[in-house]
Amino acid sequence: MKRATQMIHGGPTVDQQTGALGVPIYQISTYRQTSMEHFGKYDYARGDNPTREAAEEVVATLEGGSRCLAFASGMAAISTTLMIFSPGDHLVVCDDVYGGAYRVLTSIFSRMGVSSTFVDATDLSAIEAAIRPETKGLYLETPSNPLLKVTDLKGAAAIAKRHGIITLVDNTFMTPYLQRPLELGCDIVLHSGTKFLNGHSDVICGFAVTNDKELGQRIRYVQNAFGTGLGPQDSFLTLRGIKTLKVRMDQSQENTRIIVERLKNHPRVTAVHYPGLPEHPGYAIHKAQADGPGAVFSFEVDSLETTKRLLENSHLAAFAVSLGGVESIISYPAKMSHASVPREERERKGITDTLIRLSVGLEDPDDLYADLEQAMQ
Ligand SMILES: *Cc1c(COP(=O)(O)O)cnc(C)c1O
Repeated sequence: MKRATQMIHGGPTVDQQTGALGVPIYQISTYRQTSMEHFGKYDYARGDNPTREAAEEVVATLEGGSRCLAFASGMAAISTTLMIFSPGDHLVVCDDVYGGAYRVLTSIFSRMGVSSTFVDATDLSAIEAAIRPETKGLYLETPSNPLLKVTDLKGAAAIAKRHGIITLVDNTFMTPYLQRPLELGCDIVLHSGTKFLNGHSDVICGFAVTNDKELGQRIRYVQNAFGTGLGPQDSFLTLRGIKTLKVRMDQSQENTRIIVERLKNHPRVTAVHYPGLPEHPGYAIHKAQADGPGAVFSFEVDSLETTKRLLENSHLAAFAVSLGGVESIISYPAKMSHASVPREERERKGITDTLIRLSVGLEDPDDLYADLEQAMQ
């Protein structure tokens, strides 16, 4: 099955009892048991819920994984998965990792004895140099947020494998439609399903996918123990969103191409970061490992004044956090996704006060560009 078909038929699509074209919302917390000795597959919904399972199955199919777990948020997926590590373990992490992941690693996991070293993961030798005897995980994001830096996933996973390290990849920006890290040798794929997978800015959810049975069981153990699984209503909405992932992604990506081309030539725009541009340093690697550059990019403008005007005066693109919705979202990484990263650290990474991120939705690109243009005037 090709991807577009998998989005619709890659999980259970029919309710066995009624033939309904979809898995119902099992808004139930517990299940009646019939045997004193053997409980059924379902006993309590913290552990198992059929609607959640349907969402898990379709994402597992899309990523080419054998096991997927759905979580109450992307951060729940990330944090729960990170619980497979133990005190004394060390992680190598890409230096422009999502702000929320940076926060849990540096303020919570560090306290639990799991330490992290942040490296420029676009440089494979920097990854290898940061590996210590106690390193157990390599945590990557490509293209990264908000500078769209590209990491060679196959190369990174090969290094990790050589050292017996688990590779985790946050694949939120790409979705499995455009990039499948498990096929490139990585071990665990993480998602904020809140973004493109659901795609309608109306659900918070997350996923962890693996093709390693034992890793899948370890993550599942923590999910059930912590109670971080996704609720049935949100599972249903996410399933519905995934059905249109291909058409949404194709159109948003095409709109992005048009807007990027135009913004590049705007006098107030000083730089555009987008892996679809041949001049992007990660262009070739990205092209080799993904099926498209996606629908998120960032750009720098000439002054703080222009930054403010753009953020406050764009009418179509909503000034908001998040991305991947049918509506365009313009955001300010310095004060939003990366607000929890200390200023000095942030500037060192190139996340300046004049950097703007745009997630391009399904509006007509002419309208969207005209609106950005008027906002900058
Ligand atoms: C939004 C996001 C997350 C966190 O997901 P939530 O659903 O907000 O918890 C993690 N990684 C990336 C790349 C994101 O964009």
